[in-house]
Amino acid sequence: MLPVVALVGRPNVGKSTLFNRLTRSRDALVADYPGLTRDRQYGQAHVEEHPFIVIDTGGIHGDETGIDALMAEQSLMAIEESDAVLFLVDARAGLSSADQSIAEHLRKQNKKVFLVANKVDGIDADSAVAEFYSLALGEVHQIAAAHGRGVTQLLTLALSPH
Ligand code: GDP
Ligand code: MG
Repeated sequence: MLPVVALVGRPNVGKSTLFNRLTRSRDALVADYPGLTRDRQYGQAHVEEHPFIVIDTGGIHGDETGIDALMAEQSLMAIEESDAVLFLVDARAGLSSADQSIAEHLRKQNKKVFLVANKVDGIDADSAVAEFYSLALGEVHQIAAAHGRGVTQLLTLALSPH
């Protein structure tokens, strides 16, 4: 069984961009508007020589309240199926209430969760990501999925036993 990594987060944070980079496919649709990925999508990827399965999701809506409403079924199932969760947030847009609700849900799961601040290209990344430490999910890992920055390092960490 290959390890499974789920990509979750509110729409437009760059989940499909990361999925495409990891799988080197154009299967996941990338767009500037939310909600495009309606079902979860599976791809095979590898970091260094280690293969894994990656799941892209699109169904977390940021304008509802309550974690049950907020986390759509597809995303919840992807989390269930995964060995590690990459929880993406947008370093440019900053912290949102959707991020806080998703974090609250993830803190209750018995999963390895990695908080990932995407889109750190061309900004003062350290100051941009500082506020995400308030989500209480530990380290904030900086990446730029569109350019590949930080991606190998992040996946190596996510797939390591501890
Ligand atoms: P999703 O809704 O979470 O799947 O987000 P998408 O992958 O569709 O990306 C949403 C938008 O963010 C698109 O316009 C992407 O080009 C843009 N984006 C994704 N990753 C990066 C990044 O690393 N840097 C920048 N500047 N933009 C990015
Ligand atoms: Mg998407």
